[in-house]
Amino acid sequence: MAKIIAVTNQKGGVGKTTTAINLAAALAISNKNVLLVDCDPQGNATSGVGLKGQRAPGGTVYEGLTQSPTVDSAQFVLATAIPRLSIIPATRDLAGAEIELISVDERERRLQKLLAPLRDRFDYIIIDSPPSLGLLTLNALVAADRVLIPLHCEYFALEGLADLVTTVRRVRAALNPGLDIEGVLLTMNDERTNLGQQVARDIREYFKEKVYTTVIPRNVRLAEAPSHGLPAVTYDARSRGAEAYFSFADELLTRNQDALATREP
Ligand code: ATP
Ligand code: MG
Repeated sequence: MAKIIAVTNQKGGVGKTTTAINLAAALAISNKNVLLVDCDPQGNATSGVGLKGQRAPGGTVYEGLTQSPTVDSAQFVLATAIPRLSIIPATRDLAGAEIELISVDERERRLQKLLAPLRDRFDYIIIDSPPSLGLLTLNALVAADRVLIPLHCEYFALEGLADLVTTVRRVRAALNPGLDIEGVLLTMNDERTNLGQQVARDIREYFKEKVYTTVIPRNVRLAEAPSHGLPAVTYDARSRGAEAYFSFADELLTRNQDALATREP
């Protein structure tokens, strides 16, 4: 049964999509079956794996969310060039879903229903979410088991975080009792400045052991890779950015194995 992880932070440009794409690809390279779900009308996760504008046989995540909930979820899954990595793609159409779903029953459970039948086909389902706390992000949080929060190592990193933590608590209380924070990933760290170190300290104080040991450095390869339609972990696997995402995927896998081991009697 897949673990569903929503990569969420309502702040824009913090590394959500870069994290979703490279984590998903690194997990696939580690022999996991992975589904990436592009839940952002910007469609950056879709173009980042080279499938800009492409549709699965059933369409994109937009049709998956807005059509009858009895549709066959497998119809929305598209293979990528990377073995074991599939995607439910998004196009700009998805912007309309925020409005169209307003009048629909259980509008916040649409993604949960779309993904439920796919759980037994994958080990991990990684959802990339948009920079807002609107209905699409709400759908991601209701569908997910865990939230992964990327935080840009900068002075204002913690700003707005209270809103995200409150939203996660509200979703847990009202809609998804199992929801929890998977972890906090520090991204775009500039090692040449002390500011990054100070911010990292503050974040570790606030989130304690939820913060991953791995820190993603600022690295130009991570920014270049999407224009080649490839995750950095395949575009230049030996770049510092790619290596950091491989370490992060390992750390996430290890934490999940440890969590499984401690749950056993
Ligand atoms: P949005 O909120 O718009 O969806 P996002 O949180 O998904 O943004 P990304 O798109 O992943 O953020 O990253 C923002 C920009 O920074 C992109 O151009 C990306 O290529 C670049 N970027 C992300 N991480 C790094 C990094 N570690 N080093 C250098 N550039 C990075
Ligand atoms: Mg994004």
